[in-house]
Amino acid sequence: MKSISVVTYGTAGSCPVCTPERSIHGGNTTSLRILSECIPKESALAIDMGTGFRLLCKDLLKEGIDTINVLITHFHADHMLGLPFAPQTYMKGVRKELIGPSENGRGPKEEFENLMAPARFPVHFAEVESRFFFKGFEHPAAHVILFHPQGGRKIMAVDEFERLEAERKHFPIGKGKYSLEECLVVRMYRCNHPELTISYRFEERPTGKVFVFLTDHENMDGHPTGLIRHISGADLLIADGQYDRNTYDTLTAGFGHGTGDYLARLACRAGVKRVGITHHDPDATDESILKIVKEAKSASTEPDIEYFSCKDLMTIEIWSFSYTPVTWRRWSNIGETTLNPARKCGVFISIATSLF
Ligand SMILES: [Zn+2]
Ligand SMILES: [Zn+2]
Repeated sequence: MKSISVVTYGTAGSCPVCTPERSIHGGNTTSLRILSECIPKESALAIDMGTGFRLLCKDLLKEGIDTINVLITHFHADHMLGLPFAPQTYMKGVRKELIGPSENGRGPKEEFENLMAPARFPVHFAEVESRFFFKGFEHPAAHVILFHPQGGRKIMAVDEFERLEAERKHFPIGKGKYSLEECLVVRMYRCNHPELTISYRFEERPTGKVFVFLTDHENMDGHPTGLIRHISGADLLIADGQYDRNTYDTLTAGFGHGTGDYLARLACRAGVKRVGITHHDPDATDESILKIVKEAKSASTEPDIEYFSCKDLMTIEIWSFSYTPVTWRRWSNIGETTLNPARKCGVFISIATSLF
């Protein structure tokens, strides 16, 4: 079985950008697609709907996907703006399932009603709402989301999940009952960010591979046990490293975003195998982003952990066998060609489509 992979359609933070100095990393805001054989064939699974979501949806159109599940980290504009510009928003034949945080009575439904309304946008959300499904979590860590290739998607209380798992029972998903070992299990954890923001952990049980997405998340003093548990053993962690250390210390502490050196310490503590830095600052250049990667490498006390910067339209595959060299197909001109043949877990990175 091919293991879970991730396509990064948007890696910019805060607002979309388009400058020659960012031509390598790109400037669409956060949106990712998760590919796994645990997800039903006619469905797609995405994280966030930044401006990268528009491109993601164009790819889904070519595949004839009729259900799009989106896990939303939070409702800052850079994570929402793509929805009004995605063709599927206006297609009644496509079911859109928006799952995310809910705070003070405002969840995905209320936030997108607020975004898509005159005078901010000419089409009112009520005109397209009938093919949307919404689920908001006030306490994200209290729930688990399961995906099964035949059963579909199920949301359940973590307490019930752990009971069934301990008893090795089959899980009711859709119209059937299935082994947990056939599922993609999604767990949630609250980030350190001004609004309720969710980090998602994906456990692909058939392959044993783990991917964690952690944005928008600011450096924290110490390492909370819950956070370490949430990212522990991840084969791939894609996380918020918007600032270099000096910028953070002198200007941006408290803005809700992190640094590369903090991510390195977190990764070392939690046994993460590979770290992709994302949510690049609007003022960041290709060069300054690589400086943050360098800071992460310098702070890392585990030589086997690899660090890289995420770029728009990368496909990152976590292969299920024990060793595969890392291959950069296109980005070799920016000094990221280092291969580490000693690695036990391989990640293959390629370009899904061309930006330019
Ligand atoms: Zn953001
Ligand atoms: Zn944010």
